[in-house]
Formats: sequence, C-alpha cells, structure tokens
Amino acid sequence: VAAVWVQIPHTVSIIILSPENVDSGLFNSTAALLVEFYATWCGHCVAFSPTWKSLARDIKACFLNVHIGFPRDVRGLRHYIIDKLEMHNEAWPPACPPLETASEAEIDNFFQTNNVKLLALVFESKDSYVGREVTLDLLQYENIAVRRVLDTETSLVSRFGVTDFPSCYLYNSSRHISRLKVLNEARTFYSYALQRLPGVVRTGKPQIAITDLIKNSTLQEWRSFNKTRVYMSDLESALHYSLRVELSGHISISGNDLTALKKYINVLAKYFPGRPSVKSALKTVDSWLQQQKGTEIKYSDFRDVLDNTVQTSDAVLPEGVQWVGCQGSESHYRGYPCAFWTLFHVLTVQAKEMGIPDPQEVLQAMRGYVSRFFGCRPCATHFESMAQESMDHVTSLSATVLWLWSRHNRVNNRLAGDLSEDPYFPKIQWPSPELCPSCHGLKKTGEHHWNQEEVLTFLRNYFSSAHILMDYLQ
Ligand code: FAD
Repeated sequence: VAAVWVQIPHTVSIIILSPENVDSGLFNSTAALLVEFYATWCGHCVAFSPTWKSLARDIKACFLNVHIGFPRDVRGLRHYIIDKLEMHNEAWPPACPPLETASEAEIDNFFQTNNVKLLALVFESKDSYVGREVTLDLLQYENIAVRRVLDTETSLVSRFGVTDFPSCYLYNSSRHISRLKVLNEARTFYSYALQRLPGVVRTGKPQIAITDLIKNSTLQEWRSFNKTRVYMSDLESALHYSLRVELSGHISISGNDLTALKKYINVLAKYFPGRPSVKSALKTVDSWLQQQKGTEIKYSDFRDVLDNTVQTSDAVLPEGVQWVGCQGSESHYRGYPCAFWTLFHVLTVQAKEMGIPDPQEVLQAMRGYVSRFFGCRPCATHFESMAQESMDHVTSLSATVLWLWSRHNRVNNRLAGDLSEDPYFPKIQWPSPELCPSCHGLKKTGEHHWNQEEVLTFLRNYFSSAHILMDYLQ
C-alpha cells in the first residue's frame, strides 16, 4: 500500500509517499496533510486518482491528516477537509487560518490586532462553505485577511447594508466599506477578484508599481502595452530566439531531432500569420530543410539559409528580441517562454481558421520541438508527460485549441507562487472573468465551471491574426 499526499507548498501538489520518504515527509511537518492510502492494483483507487489530482490543483491550501470514508468528488472533498479542520482540537499547524465566523467586536478591532490593510468579509448563511473556501484560497496572500460573517449577525448585516447571501464586502483601516463587484457571487469569482486587488501580493513576493518599472534605469526601456492583446513583436522575437539562439546550441541536428525540426519549421511556414517578409523567410528555410535528404544537417548551414539566403528585401526574419506583451518586470522573468506559448496558441487558432485536415499537426510539432530543443528541460519533461496523457486523444481542430489552453492553465496552476512567477504578472487560471465574462459559469452546486464553447470563441478571437497588434516592430 502506498500513500499519496497533498500538501501546501506551491510547487508540489502531490507526493507519492514510499517507505523511504514517509518518516521525513509526515512527521514534524509544519503543514497539515491529507493522506490517501491506495494500492496500485486496486481498481477503485486507480479510478479515484484523477479526482485526487484535481483536488490538489483545486486547493493549494491547508490540509489535515485524515484518510477514511471521504467523498468522491472535488467539491465534497473540499468541504470534508474544512469540516475536519474545524473539528481539529489539537494545536493548529501555523499555516492554518481561523475559519470561525467573525463578530462585530472582532471586526471593530481588526486593524489593531492584525497586520493587514484590507479585510474581506463574506456574508453568508451558516451552511455555506464559500467564506471558508475563500479564506483558504487567500491564505498565501499578504495585506488581506478574509473572514466569514453569518447572516444572523444582524448589526453587521445592517451596518454594511448587506442584502444578498453570499456577498463579499471590503473593509479597510479607514473604515471604508465597499461591495466587491463580481460576475457571480461564488468562491472562484471572489478569490479571482481579491487576489488581484491593488496591494494584495502572494506571500514573499515584492510589490511592484508599474511606475517603478518605468523608472528603473537598469531595465531596458519599458514599452507600454495592452495586457489584453497579442503583439507580433513577441511572436517574431520568439522565432528569432528559437531559431538563432536556442537551436544554435546544436552543432549538428540528426535523426529524430531533425524530423522534429522539420515538422516545427513546416508548421511555422504554413500557419505563422506574420508579415509577408517573415512568412517568406520561414518558407525559404522550410523548403531548404525539406530538400535535405540526409540524416543530418549542420546548424551553421541552417543558420546560413536563415541569415544570408533569406536576407533579401522580401524575405527577412528580424534579428534580436523585443518583448512587448511578454516583457517582464525584471530581465529574468517572462520573455521567451511567454512568447513561445503565445506563438502556439496563435498557431492552433490559425490552423482552426484554415480548417487544416490533421488536428494533431500543430500540437505534435510543438511537442517535438519542446521535447528535443526547448532550453528549459524540466518544462520539456512536464509538457511531455501532459502530452503522453492526452494529446493523442485530440481529434478536432477546436479540441486542439482547447487542449493547449487547458494544459497551459495546468502549468499556470502548478507555477502559481513559484520563484519563476513575475510578481507583476501573477499566474492565474486564464482568461480572468474580467477578460472573458462569458467563459465563466456556475454549476447548480455553486461550483465554478468553464463554458468551453465560450472559451473557444474567446480564444479564436484573442489569438486571431486580425487581432494581433503590430506596434514596436523592427
Ligand atoms: P505564460 O504562462 O508564459 O503565458 C503567456 C501569456 O499567455 C500570458 O501572459 C497570457 O496572456 C496568456 N495565457 C496565460 N494562460 C493561458 C492559457 N491557459 N491559454 C492561453 N493563453 C494563456 N516553467 C516552469 O517553471 N516549469 C515548467 O514546468 C514549465 N513548463 C513549460 C512548458 C512549456 C511548453 C512552456 C512554453 C513554458 C513552460 N514554463 C515552465 C514557463 C512558464 O509556463 C511561463 O511561460 C513563464 O513562467 C512565463 O510566464 P508568463 O507570466 O509570461 O505567462
């Protein structure tokens, strides 16, 4: 029997416990843990494992060490964990928040006794879990606290002018009250909105104001941009970085690497919705590559084709990178990986619009390039494991667009709060309700769900060639 464990740290959602790591993993831990005992030969356990993994993605918060008789769906499990936390009588692990309801006296003295600037109050009925779920969701954030207030707390209800349950109100040290505006009065919408309020940051992340970025003389000149648009400059910069920097690490390219490179360039040549000169450059490199019948090419020959042969007036891939929508608040953030994702979202949408015959073509080209050439090797390993799990099941062009979107969100979920996260561009489940209200819906149970049809429509517009901005091009 092995045990699977969901735990707090942002980077690790699930750890397989084995005889070797069980002692060090479980005992004297500062976190509360939820342990699932399972046997690899047990059909029920195997069938349950996707739910367990979804739970780990759903709550990256606070857990208790329990293991029997719990519900079989993510929502039920989440409520079960909260119930268990509340029943826990021994000393609480330091990371666990108070989940009990707030009284008027506590709220009146809140800013004297707590080192936060903002208090979010979720007004709700006794049997609602929303307030406690939002409290757990905001656990890893600073400058904000969340408390639940029951609808029976009549003086607070009338003082805040509350008419709906649940509803969420913001209260600050100047005693200013405002209602949190959300699309739906539900957990995910509150958490999305609260996590992105000005001044609210993930624990351990510095606060950065855009004006500081602009003033910071150590950075390249900051290019102002629209956060809700795709820029051609990022896409061309990704091509430059991939073809002239990343690939240059390979003196020669042969065998399966060469096959992967040919597919990648072929997909770029066919579907990159760029300027005519860039498309022409990609087509020249593609036809040269397709003519190479041997099992190996030299990178220097590839580079010559890219740099010399193609530097005619009507075929040129600009040199250098100029990030715009993919600028980071510091030079080690964002840039190439951001633009690489964007490039492939654009390509999947372009393939969909062109109605190409093979729904696997673009995804497999991405998979081949990432697994053989992408400089971040852990990224390549993670991406390959997602591809192995489900990429082959994609059988339509719409599913291709949605597969990449949902896998990118998985990566966002895994990396939220990670060291690599740019504090100025926090990783969220994308697109946010502000960016695409119709993408977000509520199930009858009150759970958030993605309206996939709406997401598809949104992605087809957001990444469409007609919608790409041409500012800052060289
Ligand atoms: P990114 O995640 O790079 O997103 C770029 C832009 O795409 C966003 O600004 C947003 O406009 C849009 N976007 C965001 N989410 C979605 C979505 N779901 N669908 C469509 N568009 C979206 N880093 C690691 O540390 N570990 C890894 O394992 C890892 N794996 C990676 C695998 C691949 C294939 C790639 C390309 C990158 C990987 N990275 C990994 C890098 C990481 O995913 C980010 O690219 C990087 O941290 C920069 O993040 P960002 O904030 O610029 O946003």
